[in-house]
Amino acid sequence: MASGEIVFIRGENNGRFPNAHCIFVDDEIPTVIDPASSPEELERLDCEKGIRLVINSHYHVDHVRYNRLFPNAEFMAHEADVPAIESLEENARIVGIAGKPWAPFWKQVMREVWGYTETEVAKAVVDGEEMSLGANTVRLIHTPGHTPGHMCVEFVERKAVYLADIDLTRFGPWYGNKSSSIDDFLASIERLKGIDAYTWYTSHGEGVIHGDIKDRLDAYASVITDRESRLLDFLSEPRTMKEIVGRAVIFGKPWEPREMFEFFEGTMIEKHLVRLERAGLIGSEGGRWARKD
Ligand SMILES: [Zn+2]
Repeated sequence: MASGEIVFIRGENNGRFPNAHCIFVDDEIPTVIDPASSPEELERLDCEKGIRLVINSHYHVDHVRYNRLFPNAEFMAHEADVPAIESLEENARIVGIAGKPWAPFWKQVMREVWGYTETEVAKAVVDGEEMSLGANTVRLIHTPGHTPGHMCVEFVERKAVYLADIDLTRFGPWYGNKSSSIDDFLASIERLKGIDAYTWYTSHGEGVIHGDIKDRLDAYASVITDRESRLLDFLSEPRTMKEIVGRAVIFGKPWEPREMFEFFEGTMIEKHLVRLERAGLIGSEGGRWARKD
């Protein structure tokens, strides 16, 4: 008999990449969201409960890496993220890595170290879709920004929401893919403030949070503003892109492999430069960016 319970499963190494916390819904349709916790535990779950549905909140490898452990399940994801779950080529393209000299290395790591396997997604969904799992109704909330098809999952009867990578960590919002968007991320955070729920699950960091999270969401969004202030300070003198990326405004300090650090830091910085230029706060001349005073 299914208990109807929502079970939070803490990821290995406390859900640090390439791991994540995941959710099991013990319902008439036994469901897993983002299988990226211990593979032994996930295999046991499939063996004991016969998982029939897997929801992927978005295409990142630390949310889809153990899809392959559920051969009898149907997979569900937002239509915008489906291509990158179904194809590694498409994943590399949407991340922005396709064509880089180190793209073959990244693809090899994706497969052999992080476990990416192409998954056929039977159910491509959009914002607001609802379905009954038995005791629980799930409602899919499209929350783009981190990726174009990032979704949160609301458990309507239980006033609970799985926030996926709107993870409320101190690091703050992550928008390091070509397809990511700061403006969309901020709009998604704002939208979550309007949802009436009591229990919140995140993919990384704390994992389970109870009560009102409006202040937490504001603090999380303010990391974006803080990064922008630090960037503006650094642009009090004209700087090349290489200098700006080397400053590591987002990550705090460079990490290895250096090419990947430069790609992800650079991708996030570019989005800030576009926003600041649009706001009339900075300009570029001769390959250097500087603040307008
Ligand atoms: Zn992610």
